[in-house]
Amino acid sequence: MTQAIDTLIHARWVVTVDGNCDPCDDHSVAVHDHRIVEVLPRAEAVVKYRCAQESHLDSHILIPGLVNTHTHAAMTLFRGLADDLPLMDWLHHHIWPAETRWVDEEFVRVGSSLAAAEMLRSGTTCFNDMYFFPDVVAEVARNIGIRASIGLIQIDFPTAWAQTPEDYFRRGLELHDEVKNWDLITTAFAPHAPYSVSDKPLIKIQTLADELDMPIHMHVHETEHEIRTSIEHFRMRPLERLSRLGLLTDRLLAVHMTQLLPAEIEAVADSGAHVIHCPESNLKLASGLCPVAKMADTGINVAIGTDGAASNNDLDMLSEMRTAALLAKGVSQDPTVLPAHEALRMATVNGARALGLEDITGTITPGKCADLVAVDLDHINTRPTYDPVNQLVYSAGRNQVSDVWVNGNHVVSAGKLTTIDVAPLFAQVSIWADRIIATDSESNEKAAS
Ligand SMILES: [Zn+2]
Repeated sequence: MTQAIDTLIHARWVVTVDGNCDPCDDHSVAVHDHRIVEVLPRAEAVVKYRCAQESHLDSHILIPGLVNTHTHAAMTLFRGLADDLPLMDWLHHHIWPAETRWVDEEFVRVGSSLAAAEMLRSGTTCFNDMYFFPDVVAEVARNIGIRASIGLIQIDFPTAWAQTPEDYFRRGLELHDEVKNWDLITTAFAPHAPYSVSDKPLIKIQTLADELDMPIHMHVHETEHEIRTSIEHFRMRPLERLSRLGLLTDRLLAVHMTQLLPAEIEAVADSGAHVIHCPESNLKLASGLCPVAKMADTGINVAIGTDGAASNNDLDMLSEMRTAALLAKGVSQDPTVLPAHEALRMATVNGARALGLEDITGTITPGKCADLVAVDLDHINTRPTYDPVNQLVYSAGRNQVSDVWVNGNHVVSAGKLTTIDVAPLFAQVSIWADRIIATDSESNEKAAS
């Protein structure tokens, strides 16, 4: 008797990232009711299962969906607005004025939709976001069908989203209650950074995170300037301050971490906190270098994020994996560190673990949700294929992503997005770009005069 299931995916190679990253030749993944049922040789699968949907991916590597562990999705609308500038010039004269002027619900809706389209099309099935109007980001993610950890942003100063620290908490917790039973959506506290959130709200966040069992997503030790100003204001480095406030725990996702003393690496390892490495953003803004190899040696869970498109400038996790691997070798002057299979783990299972979603996604494991990505290696730049995982990390481009499933739904099919109509989206993006560039030119003139 054959067993009836929803979907059967046959791939040239399946890399489960469950245990190891060894490719299984000519294997199939059986999917039913949104979940992975079994990974088995193709010859056995065709005998055992019958299904409504069958995908034949004869030159493809099938991997778990990529987890982008640090984004500001809506900032796609600022992509390329201000490049090749020092961080403070970039922030004070371009990004913050543009955010003050333009960020509202509609901005976040259009920018997050563009981000979701870009992420799905390049194999990201889950993202961890921090931005204003997180309610809109959650709605966009649910409608488009991409998994998202929505950051309940907290920052000391007023914005269009909230006015006071209490206001941020109220709106964030209302959103948490609203989405708690939504498919694909979870929430995390997202205090912006140690320099932009004061002690009282940070302590409250830790208390609430413990009560509600939620992660805490925060920029930490991004630049040398951040360390210097913390010593001036608090007489201690940011990480020490977070530790004293009780935030250095296994709930913390510390993003960037480019300035670390050996004792701080030890403290992070002891705490079980997760580090989110954003190599391309760190390089572009010349923020510093995250000592990934040293951290991995101490057992710290390191995951990968792109950061926002204003400082990257893309949301491409394949290229982020490659940059992470190359940069770790360069920084440590050791070509053996961060091999391709480890970069793939960082971009999948490590991200899922950091977000508390390890039982849901991050590996191709029976019982988990079917978040899957197929990359076609039958391209000029990935021939010959001696080792498909090495080819994926060091040679493949995101244009080679052919099919993507989130929660068993086929959201990219033969290179086409199935849940987003890109033509009207592009029209909305153009309208926003015209508005934004006009005011950016005005603020440049003011800054110059
Ligand atoms: Zn960021």
